[in-house]
Amino acid sequence: MALEAGAEVWVPCDAEIWRPGLVLGFEDTSAGEVVVVEVKGKGSGKGHRPIVTREEVRVPRPKATGSCQLHLRNEVLRSNRGALELQDLGLLPLLHEPAVLHALQLRFQQDAIYTLTGPMLLAVNPFKALPQLYGAERLEAVIRQIRPEAQEKEPEEPHIYAVAKAAYEGVWHRAVGQTVLVSGESGAGKTETTKFVMRFLALAGAGGAEASMSTVERQVLDSIPVLEALGNAKTLRNENSSRFGKYIELQFKAAASAPRLVGAHTHTYLLEKVRVVHQQERERSFHIFYQLLAAAEREEQGSTSVCGVPIQEPLSSLQVESFRYLRGSKCWTLDEDVDEAQLFDATVKGMRHFGLEEHLPGILQTLLAVLHLGNVTFEVPKTNSEASAAELCAPLCNALGLDPQKLEAAFCTRTMQAPGEGVITMPNTVEKAADSRDSLARHLYDALFTFVVARINATVSETGGAAWSKAKSKLLPFVGVLDIFGFEFFEQNSLEQLFINFTNELLQQYFNEVIFEHEAELYRREGIQWDPLDFPDNHAIVDLVGKAPMGILPMLDEECITTGGSSEKWCSKLCKAHGSHGHFGVVKLNQHNFIVRHFAGPVEYMSKSFVEKNRDALGADLVKCLKASSKPFVQQLVSAADRSFGTTAETTAQGATRRTRAKRYTVASEFQGQLQNLMERIRATEPHFVRCIKPNAQSSAGIFERRGVVQQLQYQGVLQAIEVSRVGFPVRLKHRQAVMEFKCLTADRAVEAQAARGQLAAAAKLLFEGLTEPSSPMSPRTPRTPKTPIAPQTPRTP
Ligand code: ATP
Ligand code: MG
Repeated sequence: MALEAGAEVWVPCDAEIWRPGLVLGFEDTSAGEVVVVEVKGKGSGKGHRPIVTREEVRVPRPKATGSCQLHLRNEVLRSNRGALELQDLGLLPLLHEPAVLHALQLRFQQDAIYTLTGPMLLAVNPFKALPQLYGAERLEAVIRQIRPEAQEKEPEEPHIYAVAKAAYEGVWHRAVGQTVLVSGESGAGKTETTKFVMRFLALAGAGGAEASMSTVERQVLDSIPVLEALGNAKTLRNENSSRFGKYIELQFKAAASAPRLVGAHTHTYLLEKVRVVHQQERERSFHIFYQLLAAAEREEQGSTSVCGVPIQEPLSSLQVESFRYLRGSKCWTLDEDVDEAQLFDATVKGMRHFGLEEHLPGILQTLLAVLHLGNVTFEVPKTNSEASAAELCAPLCNALGLDPQKLEAAFCTRTMQAPGEGVITMPNTVEKAADSRDSLARHLYDALFTFVVARINATVSETGGAAWSKAKSKLLPFVGVLDIFGFEFFEQNSLEQLFINFTNELLQQYFNEVIFEHEAELYRREGIQWDPLDFPDNHAIVDLVGKAPMGILPMLDEECITTGGSSEKWCSKLCKAHGSHGHFGVVKLNQHNFIVRHFAGPVEYMSKSFVEKNRDALGADLVKCLKASSKPFVQQLVSAADRSFGTTAETTAQGATRRTRAKRYTVASEFQGQLQNLMERIRATEPHFVRCIKPNAQSSAGIFERRGVVQQLQYQGVLQAIEVSRVGFPVRLKHRQAVMEFKCLTADRAVEAQAARGQLAAAAKLLFEGLTEPSSPMSPRTPRTPKTPIAPQTPRTP
């Protein structure tokens, strides 16, 4: 249907973003032609009974190419059934934002949480168990289809298993590496999605039967709860929020029937270690602390071990309330039905599987040492009595095998090499001492995390390694699964958000390239000329943040090695260098803040403490103290995480040495290196994009909040991808549908005859060649909607 009286349209609206309306007619006004639309709303009448309200709104008449305030509704989305059958939004006759939103909502309400849109899978979190979607039967059915002997291939519904299957077939049949890129905001379901993919891939080679799984296949799945215990935490947005990013490479070996999973390697990114020392109210630190304390409480009186692991201190003193690092956020528990002691059993069991048995005492002692660190406080003037130092640090030093006097000195003073004066010792302020303490806690935890991940990797690829060396030639490329934080903007945004948003910027750049290729291929296949002038491109933002030497992050690194460098100075240098950059904004009323206009929207960053966070290396005196530990485990931790235990810019007063040493490590340079490596790995594979969407902020089943969903579609580039399609030919009809709609415009009988013979493509060609002037080549700049009225019918399902 064209935009004419009686047409059904979507009209913008604040509350619901788009609401349905009926075109009543047109009016000429001084500002141009407007469309008069009747829209219905819900109101309450007498006795608060719901009634339907009607109002007339006037909307500027959409121009062929301008931004539309009105969109024609799709016939196909008039019914629930139509929406259910529409599995790929790319098949919507009229593709636009309200149609996408409406289709997703109708499908969500019928538990059809997966929808394709071109090359990506959208997954709306149902927040409830859907056994029919993931049960063993379903999994086995999809796995059965992989087998070459599978006779009849059922049409594939959009599903995460179909994505995993495509990846598996990619490595098997074409020997091309694959990556499943899962993105979305916190609580959108990335980690759950990742787990479905991993489970599918671990079971695919075993024919779907758990009993037939090999040790490695099982181990790969067993690593998940261990990583979650150490790297996940309860936040306001997700009870089991991953506080690190991960890229898991799953390695396969060809086998007689189907490839088997023989190893895995997990790369981790940006563990939010600051959570160890501070959490927002109603959030928690990492799960493992609460699990350990719950397990200690469960032990019998007088026990000296937890889960069979010896502990050197009385278990009765191990209460959440006793530890400042845990009690501050006033949130200690998960849902009532979660038994954290039991979860700890599983975590410990998992660690044992990964050859960490001998390290378990060290791991538990380190966790307790981190907690004890939080209880160390400092006073002015410092009472330098040996008794108090020993008292404060006793449990901590005991756990870590450190000398209490040396540890106290490392907190309260710093030594420097002054030219011509030898080593001098300077007192620290109370704040500086507390910073050192927190820094030690953060680094210890980070080192522990790194150590455990490294052990898991060594074990899982060791076993696989043996298998690989036996049959190296049969090794297939890997399937990578990326579970990484989505775009973030809060009231206050700091270095962590800049890292996260930069990561998303790089992934978006890659996504744009893939979408571009996808569209270009589509046009090539149809033999249509394409002018991709309006293609979204964020390389200017990527360069603004990351490109040396003047990008925001390289300038931050430079500031960190400049004598007297500070966050304020860095911010003012940024404003000077980039003040006129289209994607950078100076904040007039606050010279400490700056704005980056990301592809997903502008974010204001507070420059405060960027420099300190970026340096984030442990003071040299503390490193020395740790290296002198009497416990081999602590020494091992220090060497496992050597990069961040490296010496800091403060370790020497000599400028030149300071420069070269400090250059060795900054958080930003390390992260940029990791990102570069990640992107190289991903680019060497075929991508599968999965966009997870959180339907409501309350994490409840059955609620679809349209505003939040549209925002996520925006942040995740889904709407941009749709825009790309709109720039070209937004109305895409199946040949059959096109012939049915337009055959009335031709008198050529041959069209119908060809269609009757089933030659639909030829019929469509004949029809349109007859209708198009020979001199008017098709171009993407032709009007977005056909000039002739069309009444979109339900498209055929793919
Ligand atoms: P974060 O960025 O905070 O780590 P996330 O995107 O990884 O968030 P998940 O932890 O995967 O989010 O999901 C949050 C919760 O949503 C899960 O604990 C689970 O309760 C629910 N959930 C996610 N996906 C599904 C699904 N497919 N079926 C049922 N429930 C789901
Ligand atoms: Mg997660």
